[in-house]
Amino acid sequence: MPSNSSANSSATKRIAVIPGDGIGTEVIREAVKVLKAATSITGTKLDFVQFDWGADRYLRDGTTLPPDAVSMLRRDVDAILFGAVGDPRVPSNKHAADILLGLRAKLELYVNLRPVELIEAALTPLRDRGTNDINFVVVRENTEGLYVGMGGQFQRGTPHEVAVQEDVNTRRGVERIIRYAFDYAREHHLGRVCMSDKSNALTFGHELWLRVFSQVKDEYSDIESRHLYIDTLVMELVRDPGQFRVIVTCNLFGDILSDLGAQLAGGLGLAPSGNIHPGRISLFEPVHGSAPTIAGRNLANPCGAVLASAMMLDHLDLKPQAEALRKAVRAAVREKHTTADLGGTLGTREVGDWLADNVTKNLT
Ligand code: ATP
Repeated sequence: MPSNSSANSSATKRIAVIPGDGIGTEVIREAVKVLKAATSITGTKLDFVQFDWGADRYLRDGTTLPPDAVSMLRRDVDAILFGAVGDPRVPSNKHAADILLGLRAKLELYVNLRPVELIEAALTPLRDRGTNDINFVVVRENTEGLYVGMGGQFQRGTPHEVAVQEDVNTRRGVERIIRYAFDYAREHHLGRVCMSDKSNALTFGHELWLRVFSQVKDEYSDIESRHLYIDTLVMELVRDPGQFRVIVTCNLFGDILSDLGAQLAGGLGLAPSGNIHPGRISLFEPVHGSAPTIAGRNLANPCGAVLASAMMLDHLDLKPQAEALRKAVRAAVREKHTTADLGGTLGTREVGDWLADNVTKNLT
């Protein structure tokens, strides 16, 4: 069995593929095609192991995330490539919560990394902004905050109803995500980190963020550090996004910021993300969901899934192959070998074919 170590880039890597629902299945098919092109030519071997977890399986036999899934993944695979979960036939979204949130929590994927790169100036809704102005990463805390599901409702459905949602912030959780952001900035020569919170109003949980940030930043004197309240940050991101390289923030703000970032860089179809535990098995997925309204029609843009695959290759220490994928997506976008959401005329499969072909040429 392969180990989860990413140290040996020549060994066979085993990838769990979870396409999920809707356009997840379509974009992941293309991502696997492109990954095969990138690795076959460089002699690296990726073994893809398919898992049918998603709405169909749930509706068929009630399975969401099988009980042994997490231990099996930890033992047998090096990384997870994930499509999207969500299906109108499951209005409760139970399977989606069990599968994606379950994997994030049980594998302790505490970093949600979302790069935002404007490839083509025409794709941003901001006026007079070029590719140098929009190039940053959002480092979102992925296991704590308001998303832990602590709280309750009292006298539900009555005029006296009370709803409480707890915001959980631990010293360990806050410190490790802030350190990750500084380490990422250092490793990628990005030079600056901005931490954003609302500590002027959230005087307990976010005061902890501010305090930890001011302690940790002193250990990274080579990196410029800055603190902005979230309301100021969103204004600045729209007014002058070129100020930012690495933004680190809590689960809720990171969720919102990364969708803002996706739109600044051309929309959901292009946005990738990594759910990461450094040095351990991690999960890579496009930012978009299952998009039921366009599913099954060869319309979905596979570029977000391909860029997520590039992040996975980075994590597996397959840097040249990762760069080849990114180069192919940049070329596809610039030369308009794209789906309709980016102004092109190709279908999902045709974009995948073009990317696979381009990757092969880049690596030959
Ligand atoms: P979910 O509930 O699973 O998040 P959703 O439809 O609510 O699904 P998204 O899947 O994120 O949300 O998509 C919202 C809309 O953005 C889609 O209906 C579609 O028009 C567009 N979109 C999202 N992803 C893509 C893509 N890869 N290619 C083209 N359009 C996309």
